Amino acid sequence: MGEAPAFCFDNLQNGFSFKSKGFETSADVGDKTFVIGGANSDSTSYIGVQIYDKTTCKWVIPTVLGTKPKPCKGHSTILLNEDRIMIIIKGSTPDDCIWFLEVDTKYVREQKKVLGTEVVAWSKGMRGDAEKPVVISGPSGVGKGTLINMLMKEFPSMFGFSVSHTTRAPRGNENNGVHYHFTDRSVMEKDIKDGKFLEFASVHGNLYGTSIEAVEAVADSGKRCILDIDVQGARSVRASSLEAIFIFICPPSMRQLEERLRARGTETEEQILKRLRNAEAEIEQGKSSGIFDHILYNDNLVECYENLKELLGLDGSAATNHKPYPDPKGIDLPLNHTVSKIDNKILINCGTPELETTSKNLIALDVLGLKGGAPGRTRGLNVYSIDSFSDGLNEKLS
Ligand code: ADP
Ligand code: 5GP
Repeated sequence: MGEAPAFCFDNLQNGFSFKSKGFETSADVGDKTFVIGGANSDSTSYIGVQIYDKTTCKWVIPTVLGTKPKPCKGHSTILLNEDRIMIIIKGSTPDDCIWFLEVDTKYVREQKKVLGTEVVAWSKGMRGDAEKPVVISGPSGVGKGTLINMLMKEFPSMFGFSVSHTTRAPRGNENNGVHYHFTDRSVMEKDIKDGKFLEFASVHGNLYGTSIEAVEAVADSGKRCILDIDVQGARSVRASSLEAIFIFICPPSMRQLEERLRARGTETEEQILKRLRNAEAEIEQGKSSGIFDHILYNDNLVECYENLKELLGLDGSAATNHKPYPDPKGIDLPLNHTVSKIDNKILINCGTPELETTSKNLIALDVLGLKGGAPGRTRGLNVYSIDSFSDGLNEKLS
């Protein structure tokens, strides 16, 4: 392709969204035109991305990060804040119809520097927000797993565990996909290189890491994510865009830590000694690094658990009033809708043209409260229906 496509306007409001032939849409950001789409042989839409640089008059194929939407029956495009393009997928399932192509966000700019190429990044849009994840760290044998299990048992609908990847061998009672994703080092190293991990670290001689998907999957299920990771991992998460609460668990003494590790009976003597050697540095860092918001001593287990619950605001009323986020209901869009943008609202007209002025045909997406984004999901999408043009946004769906 050597010349700019001949665009014809699709949705004229604001001149933001316009559509070319076939299944392509495009949006202008500065000197660049981002062209999204293309047709597959089975007449579904292929969601590719090309950039036309108006200063050089050249086409560029960017590095595309993240998981892109599935092939579909077409899509609409709206530019938001000059840094991301909202894509509304036609004929998809209600929970899979809103996507964002980030073209100039902080994450994309960072990746451009790292990769030295043009970069765009996909992020799936989700209704509702997610509660801040809880990062729990502490030396091996201090009781992190025990405390997390107690929390998940008492509040099964509230918390979900971020299942890490590790190259260490499973213990007798551990199941793949439940306690860890047990992985080959070469596979994990490739996934790390491909940007699939939020953090990773070498711990006691093995590689451990939290995939972006592990954390997002918990939030998608409407639960608050708990991460059991070492101090290096906590430091990386602290530096990432994930806002979390950081808790460090300390043993009452090194002697009791050793007793617990030995009593657990899951490591060889050599591994126990290695874990104890590392524990001293971990405790030192946990207490002094400024990474952690809270330090808890796990002397008496019941007391420590009560303190943990208090930190997380789990008094009786908070726990019983918990309503999972996000609303599991997605956005049900008919195939033939049109899209426009007014201020911070995206208006989706779901009716036939003759019915445009009657009620219930308009859905508004409020994009002011958007949070997160690539490499994870984009959350905080508020959805409203509009009863009539004069009434404005008077019925919140969620
Ligand atoms: P971690 O996940 O931090 O490596 P675990 O939760 O596996 O540690 O706990 C290590 C061992 O210590 C387990 O056998 C557990 O039952 C025991 N344990 C945990 N907390 C206490 C405590 N407060 N007092 C005595 N034993 C404990
Ligand atoms: P274990 O082998 O006992 O399950 O875990 C050993 C250490 O690895 C613990 O300190 C645990 O917190 C840490 N760990 C577990 N998963 C992760 C992870 O995904 N990332 C990091 N950085 N550390 C992890």
